[in-house]
Amino acid sequence: MKRIFSLLIAGVFFLTWNASGQAKKGKTEVVISPYQLAVDHAFEKCKDIKEGKNADYIKELASVDSNIFGICIVTVDGQVFYKGDLDSRVSIQSISKVFTLARVLEEQGPKAVMDKIGVDATGLRFNSIIAIELQKGKEINPLVNPGAIATTSLVAGADSAAKWKSIIQIQSEFAGRPLDINRPVYISEAGDNLRNQAIAHLLFAYNRMYFDPVQSTDIYTKQCALNVNTRDLATMAATLANGGFNPVTKKKVVSPETAAFTLSVMATAGLYDDSGQWLFAVGLPGKSGVGGGIIAVCPGKFGIAAISPPLNEAGNSVKAQRAIFEVSRELKVNPYLVEPRTK
Ligand code: GLN
Repeated sequence: MKRIFSLLIAGVFFLTWNASGQAKKGKTEVVISPYQLAVDHAFEKCKDIKEGKNADYIKELASVDSNIFGICIVTVDGQVFYKGDLDSRVSIQSISKVFTLARVLEEQGPKAVMDKIGVDATGLRFNSIIAIELQKGKEINPLVNPGAIATTSLVAGADSAAKWKSIIQIQSEFAGRPLDINRPVYISEAGDNLRNQAIAHLLFAYNRMYFDPVQSTDIYTKQCALNVNTRDLATMAATLANGGFNPVTKKKVVSPETAAFTLSVMATAGLYDDSGQWLFAVGLPGKSGVGGGIIAVCPGKFGIAAISPPLNEAGNSVKAQRAIFEVSRELKVNPYLVEPRTK
């Protein structure tokens, strides 16, 4: 059952009635869902794009297969439409920041996030140190590294193990299955993340780190190393699209308010310093990771994910961005695009 729900078979055998009320044998008609068509078309348009390069500042990411390419939509009623690679797993990287933020919003409310982290976009690179210095540790958005490590440090839990348990649990609930760590990626990044450690220490110096900086960086590094495939990411996005209720497992993960606050931060900072360009083109809140995944959310309708490891300068997957753009354009789901009322 690989292509679950990938085709909507409608009117497989139907009866029509002629004027005299007599039953007439109908015909077989296969209607392909517009979601499936949009995914198919986007795949075809993007499959030959060769631009971009795997991240290599985390050594293990350089050797991930650059040809992995898949697109998946999960709707708010749990249907799955996909094309390409649904099963290959990559590390979630920065996309994990979204779901740890959701955990903290759910536990501590939006005011704590506003006051202790900040929700304005830094407009700078995802691991910028200047961004911290400019604001003396304030306004460090939860979706770039400083704010994300601070968000991780805020997760409730008496010690590092308790915080990690909470994080892997929330990420798994969003994905609808237990996620596991990509050990080589974790070990590779943990042995080489002096920059993130420096970020955590600088925040600590400004009293904007809420747990031990070394341990917080380590938990954050682990969360970034969680393995996900295209379907996992699309399910995570779909849970946000569906007001925090996972449409596949049929379980509540977070409240609709938490989902809404999370989406707002994604809209302003989900693609780092390219977030403006992304929103300009696609109109949907999105989030990227240097593993090559990107998610986007069409609230009330569906979540979409694409994976392709080669990245542009800002650290966003070239093909995944383009694929999601193509799907959103074909489905006309940009909420800023409206049919004018003329009467
Ligand atoms: N783990 C990566 C880092 O901290 C995540 C960055 C990303 O995906 N942009 O550098």
